[in-house]
Amino acid sequence: RIVYVNGRYVPYAEASVHIDDRGFQFADGVYEVCEVRDGRIIDEPRHFARLKRSLDELKMAAPMNEACLSVVLTEVLHRNRVRSGLVYLQVTRGVARREFFFPADDVPPTLVVTARSVDPLKGESVAAEGIRVVTVPENRWERVDIKTTGLLPNVLAKMQAKAAGAREAWFVDRDGFITEGGSSNAWIISEEDVLITRPAESGILRGVTRTTLIDLARKEGLKVEERAFTVTEAKVAKEAFITSATTIVTPVIELDSAAIGGGKPGPLVKRLRSGFHAIAAWRSI
Ligand code: PMP
Repeated sequence: RIVYVNGRYVPYAEASVHIDDRGFQFADGVYEVCEVRDGRIIDEPRHFARLKRSLDELKMAAPMNEACLSVVLTEVLHRNRVRSGLVYLQVTRGVARREFFFPADDVPPTLVVTARSVDPLKGESVAAEGIRVVTVPENRWERVDIKTTGLLPNVLAKMQAKAAGAREAWFVDRDGFITEGGSSNAWIISEEDVLITRPAESGILRGVTRTTLIDLARKEGLKVEERAFTVTEAKVAKEAFITSATTIVTPVIELDSAAIGGGKPGPLVKRLRSGFHAIAAWRSI
């Protein structure tokens, strides 16, 4: 297995970053995860746009331009013969003696790129069954719109889900509204087949899969309402699901032990899942 670290393609076992890397010291880094399907990176331009936004918000320099970054991602995929799976990239503010203030401008950012094959049948079998979700109090900082590697609240929330036999945790804000999942966006479908998901302006990461699914739904003539919804509303929803680059569209069949849609994946979520790659593949040509 080969990975890319700061200008070099190296064997996984030999890859390393410095102990004074700000990613390690302060989680002073941002990342992206893209789905790879039939050897192609799904929605790469949207991932690059979000990466740029994360970097800008943190006043962090880009490690290279997007055309070069695209070449590196593709090269890592090729060297690992990944046709189906994911590619991960992380940028940190680089290596400097531990000090809260940003280092001097001439400190180069760290860039790490890895890729891994994932059997597409695995995701299909999870989606065919549907997943359980538990709610947890929102305890993250206000800048969850930035895709930083500071994910400890997400790790703890997902561990709580795992302990309860669930696959995802949905954060709930002080007013009882669901924000998003530990590593996914949250959606419900109303009795009238309206897709409801929280606006990306507050409390969530603007998921690339979320954006592409909104495109798809509207193209299919479905209504999408970007508004916050409560736990109570979600528990009585017709269908519910999550989106992310690694799960695409995956049905939620249980929320805090309340069955959704009779505890089985519903028809609309199934249709959205199967329609997703048609539009995503077309978008990434
Ligand atoms: N919210 C959070 C907190 C996430 O970690 C992710 C996955 N990166 C998402 C939403 C979904 O984003 P995307 O569709 O771009 O994978």
